[in-house]
Amino acid sequence: MKHLDKLKQEVFRANIALHRSGLVFQTFGNVSGVDREAGVMAIKPSGVDYAHLRASHMVLVDLATGKTMASKLRPSSDTPSHLEIYRAFPCGGIVHTHSRHATALAQCRLAIRCTGTTQADYFHGDVPVTRPLTRREVVRNYEKNTGLLIVETFRRLDPASIPAALVANHGPFCWGKDPLEAVRHAKVLEFVAEMEIVARLLGGSKGKPAQYLISKHFLRKHGKGAYYGQAAEKPQA
Ligand SMILES: [Zn+2]
Repeated sequence: MKHLDKLKQEVFRANIALHRSGLVFQTFGNVSGVDREAGVMAIKPSGVDYAHLRASHMVLVDLATGKTMASKLRPSSDTPSHLEIYRAFPCGGIVHTHSRHATALAQCRLAIRCTGTTQADYFHGDVPVTRPLTRREVVRNYEKNTGLLIVETFRRLDPASIPAALVANHGPFCWGKDPLEAVRHAKVLEFVAEMEIVARLLGGSKGKPAQYLISKHFLRKHGKGAYYGQAAEKPQA
């Protein structure tokens, strides 16, 4: 169980980092992490105030069955959404927030367009917005269907190079190789969401940047040939 204690610690620290980031209003927001070898996800408990949150409160959930493992606390109500994303995408951490600007765009069903190098440093293309859920998808298995909707939106997109989605009329989900990276992506997403709104207020971009400029910025930070930052460091938000 030692590696699962480590997972709980990691997820706890990422939840605190998310809280400190200012992206969370009241208890809207959660971070999870996964141990692929053990087939276990750890996630914030439902509705617990951040001030009282402890690493031991993180709830373990079986990745295959979705069942809670030995916990008195209920996992976040968004747990089924996280599970579907882990089952489809090769990520190690997921963040869901209702951060102001990203949520405003999700409510207007507007994608975050990759109109410059700031976006391209983290997102190798537009951050997509999903279609709205149908009545049937909301009435039964709402949270599970929200996760499946994100997966559907990425049918022709690479979740490793665009680590975020806006769920229509709801808000953003971000992911990363571990929970802290997912939190960094949530912070960057909120920053570029605000830029998208400002750009729209200014009348919108006068032209999409060339694909070679977008690729240059993304690939110098990510992937095999990355050369941004110091050799031993990972790119930071
Ligand atoms: Zn939500």
